[in-house]
Amino acid sequence: MSSCLFCRIVSREIPAEIVHENDHVLAFRDLRPVAPTHVLVIPKRHVAAVREAEDTDVELLGQVMIGARDAARKLGLVAGGYRVVMNNGDDAGQTVFHLHAHVLGGRTLAWPPG
Ligand code: 5GP
Ligand code: ZN
Repeated sequence: MSSCLFCRIVSREIPAEIVHENDHVLAFRDLRPVAPTHVLVIPKRHVAAVREAEDTDVELLGQVMIGARDAARKLGLVAGGYRVVMNNGDDAGQTVFHLHAHVLGGRTLAWPPG
C-alpha cells in the first residue's frame, strides 16, 4: 500500500469525487474548495512536484495540462475562464507531495495570488 495520499486515490483506496479520467491522469474535486469549482488533476504515475520532474517526464507534464483542459471543459469553465496552478514546495504552500494541478474557476480570481 502506498503512503502517498494521491497514489491511494488513484488506486481507489481512498474515495474522491472523480470528474475526469484517462490512462494518464485523474481529476477529482478538492476536499476543501477555494473556488466554486476547484479540482485537482494528477498524473497516475507518482512524481512529487514539478521541481522534482525529470526531462523524461515531459509527456507526463503535458498530460496533466491536457487533463486540466479536459476537466475544465467538462465542468463548464471555458467561457468564463479558469486558473491552472501547481504549487511547488513550502513557500508555495504545497501540502501533498504528489504533483497536482489545481483548476480553479466559477468566480473572478485575484492576481497576484496571496
Ligand atoms: P497543495 O496545497 O499541495 O497545492 O494542494 C493539496 C490540495 O489537496 C489541497 O487543496 C487540499 O484541500 C487537497 N486535499 C488534501 N487531502 C485531500 C483528500 O483526501 N481528498 C481530496 N479530494 N483533496 C484533498
Ligand atoms: Zn503519489
